[in-house]
Amino acid sequence: MDKGSERLLARRRGDQDVTKAPNGHVWLVGAGPGDPGLITVAGLHALRRADVVVHDRLASPELLAEAPPDALLVDAGKAAGDHTLSQEEICALLVEHGLAGRRVVRLKGGDPYVFGRGGEEAMSLAAAGVPCTVVPGITSAIGGLSRAGIPVTHRGVATSFAVVTGHEDPTKPASGVDLEQLACSVDTIVVLMGASRLQEIARALIAGGRPPSTPAAVVQWAATPDQRTVTATLDGIAAAANEAGLGAPALFVVGDVAGLQPQLDPRSLAPLAGLRVLVTRTRQQASTLVSALRAEGAYPIELPAIQLEERVDDAELDRTLGQLREGCYAWVVFTSANAVDRYIDLLAKRGADARVFAPTRVCAVGPATADALRRRGLIADLVPPSAVGESVVEALLDAGAASSSGSVLLPRAEGARETIPEELAKRGVHVDELTLYLAAPPSSPPAAQLERVRGGGIDVVTFTSSSTVRNLVEVLGGDIEPLRAATIASIGPQTSDAVRAAGLVPDIEAQEHTVHGLLDALREHFWRARIEGEAR
Ligand code: SAH
Repeated sequence: MDKGSERLLARRRGDQDVTKAPNGHVWLVGAGPGDPGLITVAGLHALRRADVVVHDRLASPELLAEAPPDALLVDAGKAAGDHTLSQEEICALLVEHGLAGRRVVRLKGGDPYVFGRGGEEAMSLAAAGVPCTVVPGITSAIGGLSRAGIPVTHRGVATSFAVVTGHEDPTKPASGVDLEQLACSVDTIVVLMGASRLQEIARALIAGGRPPSTPAAVVQWAATPDQRTVTATLDGIAAAANEAGLGAPALFVVGDVAGLQPQLDPRSLAPLAGLRVLVTRTRQQASTLVSALRAEGAYPIELPAIQLEERVDDAELDRTLGQLREGCYAWVVFTSANAVDRYIDLLAKRGADARVFAPTRVCAVGPATADALRRRGLIADLVPPSAVGESVVEALLDAGAASSSGSVLLPRAEGARETIPEELAKRGVHVDELTLYLAAPPSSPPAAQLERVRGGGIDVVTFTSSSTVRNLVEVLGGDIEPLRAATIASIGPQTSDAVRAAGLVPDIEAQEHTVHGLLDALREHFWRARIEGEAR
């Protein structure tokens, strides 16, 4: 009897009630080919509830961030001092956590049952009496290729496909796949784990009768920001891939569908596809931009350049709150969504809610700040046409701020521009500034993202406020050279000024100063660039 069955029997003989299902459960989840957006809804749900996540090399770091913050993350690829866990050790680990009553997610690249050894893991769990659910994933053999512009089937071109391993097991004399026999029996041949044997595989297929002129392609790191594709004829593909320096992990595809790649390259189908876009706003604020980019096939690279540090003087907060309650302020002016959220959170801690604004009118610098107010139950009385300080001053004066008896409350970040208080003071308007927070550079920026930026591996840099510009430069230690080759996109004129002050050139400026406006500007810029590129 094997160990698992023994353990199962021991459990059954024990004093536990065997009719009661144990709490431990393992989900074998396919993570998809790389892009975190390509996991299934079921897989994401399992991940978000996991106590333990056992993942391999191909699982994306963004997905791991979806696990609860206190979940135990085990890298089966290089756990415990760079030692790779053997399959037996992985199975034992899953069984151990399952028997301990934990919710375990075994996160695997692609689909768990496509060269993923998922079957062995499910069998071990069954033998040990640990309940297990397999959540299928998009295999790289299909989804990875489509991200490179290669469909596995195409009407009139390919009506069948095979997915085979190209890996030569070092313990066996030859690979288990009879490539010569396969060569002409199927239209599209997808080889996984074959990157180091392209030449031998191509030779075997040609020996089996596949014409040397058959289109072929190699796709490295498919569906990730590092994706690279090389296409050639079957007899030239190994040399071409070698010359381009492509290695594992890679997909090798042979068949006429590879010839469709130039037409179906995602980059020729949508303006933002394949672009690596640096997102510098805080993680809490980045989600709209990140998910919109991902939905259009871009790769958002998150390097939050801002960390909000509370900088509030309690006495000042209480004093101004008292004045607010008494209706001493004619206006409260918010110059950022962060200021709205911070201020209202601080008020809530003092037991005050939106009613304290009743005697006062509320001004938002622009639509994003007005949205933040709306989310907190307040509708801005005034939103100037342009989201800059000068425009706020003008709009307030037009609205009668100088003739009103009340003063202006300005809750905002430390170090913000002086335009509003200075210009209003000149017109005799009293302004109470209330410092809430400092938009500081992050104390420990994510290393992998930082390395990518430093290595020039970014196509577009987005800036959504002047502090994101200043802080990114600081995070880079003042070295902006790696940013020069990228397209720089700014949310509005004030941010563009900060970009120029940093010694860079804003290539794109949003017309509407919101994240949606920024996305529109990006789409338009890259769509036009594509069309112009085609015309050339
Ligand atoms: N279960 C996985 C395959 C595991 S075998 C799936 O369904 O996709 C590992 C091999 O898969 C790699 O050697 C490579 O050939 C391929 N592979 C997986 N992800 C890949 C990716 N993002 N880009 C290119 N190849 C990938």
